[in-house]
Amino acid sequence: MTDIVDRAAEREEEMLSDALAEQARRAGLSGKTLEDSALNCGECEAPIPLARRKAVPGVQTCVACQEQIERAMR
Ligand SMILES: [Zn+2]
Repeated sequence: MTDIVDRAAEREEEMLSDALAEQARRAGLSGKTLEDSALNCGECEAPIPLARRKAVPGVQTCVACQEQIERAMR
């Protein structure tokens, strides 16, 4: 029972980090490391979670600001 739940959560995490890695690749952030990631969002100063900094090396914005930037680029 717990096995199934754990596996489902793991898969979800994997999919999320895949999506974030893809986002980083498209944003030209590949080659960056965790150390290049900002601790706080460059736009709104919100703390960026470690999981996001790991998944998107070199990230400079929080999810909300990233979405706004992507919307503005379209
Ligand atoms: Zn932000």
